[in-house]
Amino acid sequence: MLTIQNLNKFYGKNKVLNNFNLQINSGEIYGLLGANGAGKTTTINLICGLLTYDSGEIFINGEKLSQKSKYILGVAPQENLLYHQLTCEENLAFFGKIYGLKGWQLKTAIFENLKAVNLLAKKDDIVTTLSGGMQRKLNIALALIHHPQLLILDEPTTGLDIESRYEIWQLILRLKQQGMTILLTTHLLDEAEKLGDRLGIIKEGKIMIEGNLNQLKQIIPGKELIFIKTEEEEEAILLGKKLGFSHRYYQGELVFLINKSLELAEIINLFEGINLTSITKQSINLQSIYIEATNYL
Ligand code: ATP
Repeated sequence: MLTIQNLNKFYGKNKVLNNFNLQINSGEIYGLLGANGAGKTTTINLICGLLTYDSGEIFINGEKLSQKSKYILGVAPQENLLYHQLTCEENLAFFGKIYGLKGWQLKTAIFENLKAVNLLAKKDDIVTTLSGGMQRKLNIALALIHHPQLLILDEPTTGLDIESRYEIWQLILRLKQQGMTILLTTHLLDEAEKLGDRLGIIKEGKIMIEGNLNQLKQIIPGKELIFIKTEEEEEAILLGKKLGFSHRYYQGELVFLINKSLELAEIINLFEGINLTSITKQSINLQSIYIEATNYL
């Protein structure tokens, strides 16, 4: 559905996309994860044709990006693109008309999309009277008004309360069930884990790793994580080395990567002689994968 090959983008001298490659298959949700400034929004703006790239290529359905691509893409940007003094229906009508919809086609599209995002009852309400979650849903409905094949959601739930986030997650999963291909950017790991069929972690304009969660787990040189708190960190690290455990600092905390599954009691025995304040065992999760990909690869 979407193929990006060796894309490079500079802002002045600042290279923000660095031989960036991405492949999104039809019907999947691809979660692009990265810190602030990693290049997610720039990537989206390039796909939408809002920015030009310096080299590389973008293909949609096998064809080079062109004016025609705009009918295939639906984009819900990070900042809601809504007319605040218009009603939900009027916003949808405005965007529908931009895409050439009129008459019963426009009416049907407005009805279907208001229904899809559960805002039918609010159709005559002015945007400023809607909650943040409702505005976000309307923003997604606008992106869907012309029946796109690829929906791009830039941080769809950032800043929303838990209930609104869950509602938008359900909406995204429903759209996928209906066959929509979705590119989603987020820096919320639980969101990426819940929604993404495949995830890509972007850092400094490059995908560091990608795959489904199981594939991503393979990049961590260990099966389990042991978090240790001790006043004798240097000694613990030395002992860990002797035992063949690599160590890391995850958010300031000393962690050992262990290649086999060990009971906590066995691990405590291995660290005998070190004065431990606390020791906890954890399986590899998306958080550890993210820290590895962005700090240790
Ligand atoms: P965020 O999560 O904060 O939205 P992001 O991953 O979407 O981050 P981008 O907005 O794509 O990141 O920014 C990538 C880099 O490009 C950052 O260093 C940013 O400061 C820079 N940048 C973005 N837009 C511009 C611009 N218009 N002019 C110059 N530099 C820019």
